[in-house]
Amino acid sequence: MEDTKKIYLDYAATTPTDPEVIAAMQPYFFDSFGNPSSIHSFGQDAKKGIEDARQKLASFLGAKPAEIVFTSGGTESDNMSLIAVAHENAQKGNHIITTRIEHHAVLEPARLLQKQGMKVTYVKTSKEGLVDPSDIKKAITAKTILISVMHANNEIGTIQPIAEIGRIAREKGIYFHSDAVQTIGHIPVKTDELNVDLLSLSAHKFYGPKGVGALYIRKGTRIGNYLYGGDQENGRRASTHNTAGIVGLGKAIELCEKQMDAEAKLQIQLRDTLIREIPERVQEVVLNGHPTQRLPNNVNFSIRYIEGESLLLNLDMLGIAASTGSACTSTSLEPSHVLLAIGLPHEIAHGSLRLTLGRWSKKSDVEQFLHYLPEVVEKLRAMSPLYHKK
Ligand code: PLP
Repeated sequence: MEDTKKIYLDYAATTPTDPEVIAAMQPYFFDSFGNPSSIHSFGQDAKKGIEDARQKLASFLGAKPAEIVFTSGGTESDNMSLIAVAHENAQKGNHIITTRIEHHAVLEPARLLQKQGMKVTYVKTSKEGLVDPSDIKKAITAKTILISVMHANNEIGTIQPIAEIGRIAREKGIYFHSDAVQTIGHIPVKTDELNVDLLSLSAHKFYGPKGVGALYIRKGTRIGNYLYGGDQENGRRASTHNTAGIVGLGKAIELCEKQMDAEAKLQIQLRDTLIREIPERVQEVVLNGHPTQRLPNNVNFSIRYIEGESLLLNLDMLGIAASTGSACTSTSLEPSHVLLAIGLPHEIAHGSLRLTLGRWSKKSDVEQFLHYLPEVVEKLRAMSPLYHKK
């Protein structure tokens, strides 16, 4: 982030690892390199690093350390929640409820479970991407074993009424999972206040390293083991721990706990400047996502008559990094499943631009972006047959 000429507006895809996090991880590569399962002092040093991180994460979530399982990231935590809960509770029922705007890390395991005989109900959302808890209630059957609704959407930033959905799930004795990959470290997340039984998170979205995450599992939740071949994480997730990564996650959450509120305030100012100024400077744009119930760092606009990918390439040539939506699908030219699910027609869903802010975002980044956007859009529209036909 030292390169002052470049502007990074893609914090939802991934964040830089905070230098303080890197410093905390450093000793675990050479000095305290032991296998945390080993009895000797090398192993015990590493184990202590892991248990400290578990404590820090548990305290952030208002949970117990024993309720945390470290994983390889958000994808694994989501996969584990769906697959290991569905398999373990198959006797009880064969129905899952989720939404069409979940990350593929939830949608794909749901599809796999469907192939294995599970029934899945996909609850619709409003145009702003909000789930109505009463729709969840209506979808529940005597066979429902799991409800999975993300805390905030990674593309349009809409924050869901998780506590209310959790209350409904609890009343009916149904497990409730939430993918909190985009909220952890950005807004407060307390597992008891949200009424969740399972909650996914990923360190690289809150200034920690990539390839490490966690799943919160409420005590008493019936969930099968996920990786087999060792008794790490109480047998739930075998494989030698990623010690440095886990220590980094712990440090990252500790920094967020201290800095998150102040950072969110600043990001809201920058976000609202973008939301106000983009329609002032470019015609025929539509804000995607909820106007107020949205992440402090998320802006998502559809810009008519241009392709999101061309816009990104042109911005990149100017040193500005943005996204059309999810980084995970940006290699495909398919329009975003989230934008289609909230009802945007194909041609508009193609022209979306996501800007996400973070710890090192500056007012000058936003000003530079706003300065360049109109000329890039004008250039692309000049080449667009659709724009000329309108
Ligand atoms: N869930 C959401 C909402 C995400 O935004 C992402 C990453 O983009 C993931 C899951 C996957 O997380 P990871 O990259 O740690 O596997």
